[in-house]
Amino acid sequence: MQIHETIAATRVALKNAGRIVFVPTMGNLHEGHIALMKQARQHGDCVVASIFVNRLQFRPGEDFDKYPRTFNADGEKLVEAGVDHLFAPSEIELYPTPQRYVIEPPLEHATILEGEFRPGHFCGVATVVMKLFGVVQPHAALFGKKDYQQFMVLSAMVREFSLPIEIIPGETVRAADGLALSSRNGYLSPAERAEAPRLHRVLTKVVAAVRGGNRDFTALESNAKTELQAHGWIPDYVAVRRRLDLQSASASDNSLVVLAAARLGTTRLIDNLEI
Ligand code: AMP
Repeated sequence: MQIHETIAATRVALKNAGRIVFVPTMGNLHEGHIALMKQARQHGDCVVASIFVNRLQFRPGEDFDKYPRTFNADGEKLVEAGVDHLFAPSEIELYPTPQRYVIEPPLEHATILEGEFRPGHFCGVATVVMKLFGVVQPHAALFGKKDYQQFMVLSAMVREFSLPIEIIPGETVRAADGLALSSRNGYLSPAERAEAPRLHRVLTKVVAAVRGGNRDFTALESNAKTELQAHGWIPDYVAVRRRLDLQSASASDNSLVVLAAARLGTTRLIDNLEI
């Protein structure tokens, strides 16, 4: 695997690379990331990963400074997964001057769900992904459904800018007890880690209820939040939404997803399940 720290070196290395499939990450790689790398291999000739902890998508007071940075271990995992190139720029390489031109997703995408609790987050995500696309110039890019709203926002961005990039979803990889793998799971104490799979369990219950014909989404959301609260969580939201645009679902809508975000101690976890 070739490692590139500069935009110029990446461009040179990828000049005649064939069909490039790109998997952007913030590092601290786990099996969820590695599944995306392996899936990427099936979609092209050349798999490119990136590792960049993007300050722009963190709010002041969020975990940018303490976000786990495990570059050497990540590199070994990427080699093992058969990744061809890793783009790992410094902040000064990607943001040599303050970023004044940004991608502002529309309010109906950027201020709901995650966007309500992390204002500016999707502007930071869309802006860095647009920059990374400009460097790597991929034919296809993979994003995990674990970050369901991120997948929706980036798919819409690519569509509305007519970027010649195929956006491919990856299924969420979970621990044996159901907890979605996440770099932030490492913040959990042993007791919190034992409690954490409840988030997946309450979502599973909502899915079962909706599939069983219950269309009182408000009651289902509220019951799920109450159950989380009863076990020490502070939920931001549990929401049944339309898959396509994550807007509120009506009783007759099909193709739904239930999404949740909740804090356990100081750790904020997100998860979702398609219905
Ligand atoms: P991150 O490093 O958190 O920015 O994630 C990089 C990519 O990996 C994103 O497309 C995420 O949606 C995806 N990802 C994160 N966790 C998982 C998981 N448990 N299963 C599948 N994909 C994931």
